[in-house]
Amino acid sequence: MGLMTGVEVDVWLADLATTFARAADDLARLDREVGDGDHGETMRRAFAAAERTRSAGASEPADAALERAGQAILDAGGGASGPLIASVFIGLAAAARQRGALDAAAVADGLARARDLVVRMGRCAPGDKTLLDALDPAADAARRAIASEGGAVEIVSAWSAAATAAAHGRDATATMAGRRGRAAWVEGHGAGTPDPGATSMALILASASRVARGHVTKAGAAAPATDAERRMVDGDGADPRRAAAAGKLLNRPADLVDEMIDGFVAAYPDRVRRVEGASVVARATPKPTGRVGLVIGNGSGHEPIAMGWVGTGMLDANAVGPVFTAPGPRAIVRAIAEADQGAGVLLLISHHEGDRIAGEMAAEMARLAGHEVATLVMYDDVASAPKGRESDRRGAPGTAFVYKIVGAALEEGMGLAEAKRLGERVRDGTRTLAVALAPGTSPLTGEPMFALPPGEAFIGMGVHGEPGFARMPSYPLDAVCDRVMDGLIEDGEYVSDETVGVFVNGSGGTSLMELLAASRSVFRRLEREGIQHVAPLIGSYVTTQETKGFSVSLCRFDDTDLRRWTAPSDVPFFHL
Ligand code: ADP
Ligand code: MG
Repeated sequence: MGLMTGVEVDVWLADLATTFARAADDLARLDREVGDGDHGETMRRAFAAAERTRSAGASEPADAALERAGQAILDAGGGASGPLIASVFIGLAAAARQRGALDAAAVADGLARARDLVVRMGRCAPGDKTLLDALDPAADAARRAIASEGGAVEIVSAWSAAATAAAHGRDATATMAGRRGRAAWVEGHGAGTPDPGATSMALILASASRVARGHVTKAGAAAPATDAERRMVDGDGADPRRAAAAGKLLNRPADLVDEMIDGFVAAYPDRVRRVEGASVVARATPKPTGRVGLVIGNGSGHEPIAMGWVGTGMLDANAVGPVFTAPGPRAIVRAIAEADQGAGVLLLISHHEGDRIAGEMAAEMARLAGHEVATLVMYDDVASAPKGRESDRRGAPGTAFVYKIVGAALEEGMGLAEAKRLGERVRDGTRTLAVALAPGTSPLTGEPMFALPPGEAFIGMGVHGEPGFARMPSYPLDAVCDRVMDGLIEDGEYVSDETVGVFVNGSGGTSLMELLAASRSVFRRLEREGIQHVAPLIGSYVTTQETKGFSVSLCRFDDTDLRRWTAPSDVPFFHL
């Protein structure tokens, strides 16, 4: 065939929905090896959504079908890979629109456009062990295929060259060390395992090649074969009995986030409300006109943050993503629109690839829609990158100091540029180290998020179970706390006579009794060092389901910071 019509694009989308329903478990396993395990579910959800947007009738042009799919993937996918994978469809749509058809040249041009988008959004390069390592050779191969044949090239030549190159590219990622995304922080950088995103990219191009060759000729041919597959394709997700058997309470996995938001806003209607038709929680009563708004988007599964901190004195709105997965950019734009009272919005981004990519995209989109937006990337996790490379570090529970101190300043009427500078100063004075003892369980898959031998404490583990840097016996508690405090005090260069705020955060499965005993140990150590500590925050605020463990965060305070940290706020879950 010389070109692909809208009907054939729909066949491709149907094939992808089934392909990713089948591949979800394997992709999750690959992604777990480099830290979190959400990639399979992100791809399944994204392509189930793209499939649902298929036109009922026929005769939609290919570019319109591709554009619709791209937008659906962008909205439903989330995480780092949602926007990056969406760019394949958005790139192809743009190329097909320009050429007037999805032909071989449009495939080559579309893949090249997608590559440019991925490089720009991901800030990645070939060899970083990402999906670019499948897309980049695919784009080159498609270009070569049309150049070598000249004249009227069959579209199948372009697709099959791209698919073959992508498969080789995926295989090559197995021996690469990750430099971007979560893999960058993992011991061995995931060497030995192919990159999950590159694996997905290869699946997408292989499917296109099958469709172009006529091996899949109508949507029905790709229909799911079993009940389990149908559930995955129809959007219900994994069998809830798996998670239920692991002790999770849920109805349909696909409804979990919605049901949580609905319960939350119903419980605190005086303080929060749900923005209609969106996974966005906003203040019940907006800030006065002329005050700067404060917004964040984040994956769910970490409650009470961040929606629990929406209200007077802290956030104006929060975009709530899928479980452990950053929300799509348009949800964040909705949150920004809610928070904008005419003086602009400060968008907080807790530094994880997905949150950064979605946040930066959302800021650009919101600016185009006329909002004044500044972004503040927050990072505090000492374990995730060495001293001197602070801006490579992950966001961790110490970001609480930014939410609260900047939130209080904005309530006083501080302007956008000054608030951003204040947030940067608070961030730069904050350090966090986490300790994990036992994993929490994904409510979607029923799988534990990581494995640890009993009796061991893993120092430096991330909030998604990203591996830490040191292991030690979890007994006695004082020794574990001392190890944590060594790391914090050395890295943050906290010295005697300074004043610090302290946040002892439970990971979800650690009792308040244990947190208070850990706090005693932390306070004693600070006192031995002559460091003043004031107004501690103690509780399970930044959780990863029922993970056993805790983190300690310190933040350097001046008198104004202290005043803002302790200023009254009225949000559902913040108790100094
Ligand atoms: P998250 O990293 O948010 O959990 P996913 O698990 O869905 O997102 O996707 C992970 C994949 O996304 C990785 O395997 C990699 O291919 C891709 N990826 C992550 N960060 C980047 C980046 N900065 N540039 C390019 N690709 C990236
Ligand atoms: Mg992931």
